[in-house]
Amino acid sequence: MFRQKWAGHTFSRRAFRLALAWAFSIGVACHAPSAHAWGNDGHRIINRLAASALPADVPAFLRSEAAISEIEYLGPEPDRWRSPAEAELSTAQAPEHFIDLELADKLGPLPHNRFDFLAAVYAAGERPEKIGLQPWQTDEVWERLKSAMRDYRELKAAGKDTQPVEQAIIFYAGWLGHYVGDGSQPLHTTVEYNGWAGPNPHGYTTSHQIHYEFESEFVSANIHVAEVQADVTPVQAIEGDMFDAYVAYLRRTATYVEEVYQLDKAGGFAGAGTAASRAFTAARLAAGASMLRDMIYTAWRESAQPVPDRYAGQ
Ligand SMILES: [Zn+2]
Repeated sequence: MFRQKWAGHTFSRRAFRLALAWAFSIGVACHAPSAHAWGNDGHRIINRLAASALPADVPAFLRSEAAISEIEYLGPEPDRWRSPAEAELSTAQAPEHFIDLELADKLGPLPHNRFDFLAAVYAAGERPEKIGLQPWQTDEVWERLKSAMRDYRELKAAGKDTQPVEQAIIFYAGWLGHYVGDGSQPLHTTVEYNGWAGPNPHGYTTSHQIHYEFESEFVSANIHVAEVQADVTPVQAIEGDMFDAYVAYLRRTATYVEEVYQLDKAGGFAGAGTAASRAFTAARLAAGASMLRDMIYTAWRESAQPVPDRYAGQ
């Protein structure tokens, strides 16, 4: 799978020169395989652990073994949309798996509305598919989940059949899990997504294999559910605005970018890796599972709130 991107900024002479350097290095990187964040196995682990750890006040259907299995299956679902057999879909959804925060932040504070971000990107002479749309996609799928949960509550209260909406909720929860999982992979938050670009005083790898080796080969060979489960945090509803909370989660993930390269330099993602690389990877997967579980739980709680009157104040 190929992720094509470049950078071409016009904000200042210095930024422009840096952008040219990035464009060169990333232009080479676009021929590298990448972008199946966490690979099949990592996404399945994240989704299974999140669904398995939902608290008892979430409806039983969503905690059933059948639902957990379906949510696990859906972990890699958006990566199944990368086939050349569905070329338009593959292209349109590719930017929803990542965001290069260094590039996005040059445009100012991240707006909540996807189209406000797109307008800012185009106004700067950029292309959104080169920067990424991760937080908007994730927040919008989370809102779909919350909407379906609100419908579930209404049907339940009316004594009607809830089975059809239960299917929708399970799908949205599993679909959401993919993006939240991508968001715990440091290389999905940075221009350094597949080989170090730009100044490199520490001699980190510039190989365009690191992304795949870390998230797919290494995880599949070395990381198991039990190790990740040990690092899953206690359930906690998310307070405040979900978009803001999700961006804060992405920024925490981004603080681990350099550590990925340090571990790689120490041989951490070759073969069985090192104790440090295995612990690091399990902790990152657990961060994804914990956030996903908390987002599903928060959607459930917030789905009980009355819908604001859209005509209020008019
Ligand atoms: Zn992805």
